[in-house]
Amino acid sequence: MNDDNRDPLLLTPGPLTTSAETKQAMLHDWGSRDQSFIDATQNVRDALVDVSGGGDAFTAVPVQGSGTFAVEAMVGTFLPKDRKLLIVVNGAYGHRIAKICDYMARRYTVLETPEDTPPDVGAISRTLADDPDISHVVVIHCETTSGILNPVEDIAAVVAAANRRLLIDAMSAFGAIPLDLSRIPCDAVAASSNKCFEGVPGMGFVLCRKAALEETKGNAHSLSLDLFDQWQAMEANGQWRFTPPTHVVFAFEAALKAHAREGGVDGRFARYSENCSVLVEGMRAFGFEPLLSHNLQAPIIVTFKMPSDPKFVFQTFYDRLKDRGYVIYPGKLTVAESFRMGCIGHLDADNMRGALAAVEQTLTDMGVTSGAP
Ligand SMILES: *Cc1c(COP(=O)(O)O)cnc(C)c1O
Repeated sequence: MNDDNRDPLLLTPGPLTTSAETKQAMLHDWGSRDQSFIDATQNVRDALVDVSGGGDAFTAVPVQGSGTFAVEAMVGTFLPKDRKLLIVVNGAYGHRIAKICDYMARRYTVLETPEDTPPDVGAISRTLADDPDISHVVVIHCETTSGILNPVEDIAAVVAAANRRLLIDAMSAFGAIPLDLSRIPCDAVAASSNKCFEGVPGMGFVLCRKAALEETKGNAHSLSLDLFDQWQAMEANGQWRFTPPTHVVFAFEAALKAHAREGGVDGRFARYSENCSVLVEGMRAFGFEPLLSHNLQAPIIVTFKMPSDPKFVFQTFYDRLKDRGYVIYPGKLTVAESFRMGCIGHLDADNMRGALAAVEQTLTDMGVTSGAP
């Protein structure tokens, strides 16, 4: 995938490399109360519900800002003020939700496993049985901290069995990793424009089960992050309550069309999976070791353990790869030194092979003979 674009390719968890078509969709100005913008917003909302498989039972409520704004809006809108949230944590994004609850002064319990370990589904079930105050559970689909794929279907089943409600932060997975809302019992899923949909950054959205959203009036701690109010206003006149990110919406509309043309979630999953295997096999050949075993790894972002060779200096490695046209990502693990390389965005297997060639040249320049940890 080469758009004759001289920008470095972003092997990161977002913002990502976008197509020329998506960038070109932004080369106009629109009035926020104009019908063409109202139509674009509606197209985006409809396309998101289509991708989710949720049908008429669901609605997509957009929210200005980055993904965290959408997560904060989801938790603040769905969790009643007098109830409690169970947060399933195995990385930084789970911890971020706990911090959001601290700011909002909402009660929560954390159930944590290490960053390379899936959640303990049995422990979730026991915690729900022991604590009747917990009304909602929140889980991260792909924990971008490590790249681990969490078993949301199994978690959804125990949450439903305990008669509680599920919220999902699917920020780095939605659009590329199957999550069929016609089968998975959950009230809300948060994601954003700039990850697996390959749009530009600037808006999040929450797919909400309408029957659950109807019950949320008065829950929100924040006017701008009240999904109920945003939804009511949008249903009434098709408009956003406050200044919308007009260019982002048009870029997102173009990106969603490309997503559908590629074959939707299945098509994107196939391309990202190939990107991921090319990357992992190539890096292994240089001695690098991924943190996660194949069965835990989502085809989104790969964490590599830091090489032990003293000649390997991450900042130098990063800078030289950037000079060669590839931007990688620092690690975010608390348990071990690491760095990350993403396989999402407007990139294909040839781009990944290009990145591997740049890694090989860079290792040679640095005098590093193996990437082994
Ligand atoms: C990217 C991401 C977010 C949101 O991050 P922002 O920087 O606010 O866009 C939330 N959760 C997960 C799992 C993510 O990958």
